[in-house]
Amino acid sequence: MASFTLQGIPVSRGIAIGRAHLLRPAALDVEHYLVAQEQVEAEVLRLQAAIAQVHKELQSIWADLPQDAPTELGAFIDVHVLILSDPMVSEAPLDIIRSRHYNAEWALVTQVDELSAQFDEIEDEYLRERKADIQQVAERILKVLTGSANSVPRSDGIDERSANMIVVARDISPADMMQFRDVAFAGFVTDEGGQNSHTAIVSRSLGIPAVVGMGNASHLIEQDDWLIIDSDAGVVIVAPTSLVLEQYRERQVLLQKQRKKLGKLKKTPAITQDGVEVTLLANIELPEDAAHALDAGASGVGLFRSEFLFMERSGQEHKLPSEEEQFEAYRAAVQGMKGRPVTIRTLDVGADKPLDTTEHNILNPALGLRAIRYCLTEPQLFLTQLRAILRASAFGPVKILIPMMAHSFEIDQTLNLIAQAKKELQAESKEFDANVPVGAMIEIPAAALALPMFVKKLDFLSIGTNDLIQYTLAIDRADHEVAHLYDDLHPAILQLLHTIVTTAEKAEIPVSICGGMAGDIRLTRLLTGMGFRELSMPAALLPEIKQAILNTHLENVQPYVKKILRSYEPVVIRETLAAMEMLGQTVH
Ligand code: PEP
Ligand code: MG
Repeated sequence: MASFTLQGIPVSRGIAIGRAHLLRPAALDVEHYLVAQEQVEAEVLRLQAAIAQVHKELQSIWADLPQDAPTELGAFIDVHVLILSDPMVSEAPLDIIRSRHYNAEWALVTQVDELSAQFDEIEDEYLRERKADIQQVAERILKVLTGSANSVPRSDGIDERSANMIVVARDISPADMMQFRDVAFAGFVTDEGGQNSHTAIVSRSLGIPAVVGMGNASHLIEQDDWLIIDSDAGVVIVAPTSLVLEQYRERQVLLQKQRKKLGKLKKTPAITQDGVEVTLLANIELPEDAAHALDAGASGVGLFRSEFLFMERSGQEHKLPSEEEQFEAYRAAVQGMKGRPVTIRTLDVGADKPLDTTEHNILNPALGLRAIRYCLTEPQLFLTQLRAILRASAFGPVKILIPMMAHSFEIDQTLNLIAQAKKELQAESKEFDANVPVGAMIEIPAAALALPMFVKKLDFLSIGTNDLIQYTLAIDRADHEVAHLYDDLHPAILQLLHTIVTTAEKAEIPVSICGGMAGDIRLTRLLTGMGFRELSMPAALLPEIKQAILNTHLENVQPYVKKILRSYEPVVIRETLAAMEMLGQTVH
């Protein structure tokens, strides 16, 4: 097969080399894991048993049909029995288990997806519609296999081959992405998504090479193709020649060596050459990420995206986590950080992080009932979360961060609910830190422009640049078709950041950045030069940002920063930024 290269949007760092594992949409709804060689025949038997049971079920439905049942009903069951007996359904998935080591559910949906695609090509409408029958039969088998078609994946039974698998999919929702966390995939390639779509965020926090917004990669790449992901360049090389493969392997080794070297900075504080300290924090999605944060040398957690606790619940009919469950998770993160502060962001659902995946008919989800807007319409749900966070504050320093605020009454209502939660806990003699700081995410231009409204009532601010860019430039952060317009150096963004940092400084209220800009090494000198002293990012990016700070002399970068802030010419901004980057490149 001839080698070819695809270009997409880089969303994380590093190089991945492995074989393609294509995931069709349906495949994402079931467990997917690889079974070890010695378990393959047991897995085959499991699927055979499920098929046999469905056979029995269909037969008993036939036998129990009432006398007066419409004749089509019997014919309909006949069709399902025929489909079930067809080797394309009853045999082919067994071959997939044997050849690819997929678990039974995954093998079945893979085969059904392939059959469905073939049916889509059929011109005869009647035959084309039989696709639905195949899917219904498959659902029956899945139900027997799992009790439900949706369930959380397992991380046991995975053999070492998964470490070399690169997942290729049209899109991977944040909830699906969470399913991949325990499986050591080498990389991700998706047709859709943008620089700061939540899928990109999760892959970054996993420190796994990924390229998104690839257009139609999932159609051009075939199962088991060899792939190289060069995620710094946003490039995927399909079926590389052995020479190219060799070159990338060498680069991979080099990168690993550099990473190891950076690891030595773990305990070094991030202080510029002229003595200004910058606090580097980590963004986490689940409590167990606290270990990575510590490992990377983070001074705390600047953003715990708590909504991932709510999303990783497919198969549980979107049952929300109880106060107790949430409390355990927040406490685990707090204790995991060993005395360092943990900023827990309250539920930020909506847009590309729906609580209920069936909610797809919202007109403009990013502008809809999301984050704090949603929480204030569900005060009981919000109170439950606030109580859980407050209770965790008895175990170490906690800050509460509220997403997407824009209105004064949102601040007031939130503070009232926090006061109510405290009162309830007090009455129940439950411990909490009465002085838990409460802060707002500044991620809507209205909030940035009306900052005095926030500084009076809150203890700290944290800028969500991902959304701030989305809303300021009116581009959907998850839509690859407008990804070229996602520009963190747009003068409007730089002016907003400047306004926020200077207003916050005057008001003596701490302000951090927890959006993607904080972890972008191109911007470290600019942001610190503008006055930001707290940056929160995926743990994997922290060591290199620290190195950039150690190599920065803030007084020297000031003239460049001023020039950038005075300019409204993108070319001048970029050239000045590049010149600033070249300043005093001493190596640490
Ligand atoms: C942001 O918007 O920049 C942010 C940090 O929050 P999220 O990416 O989770 O929306
Ligand atoms: Mg946001």
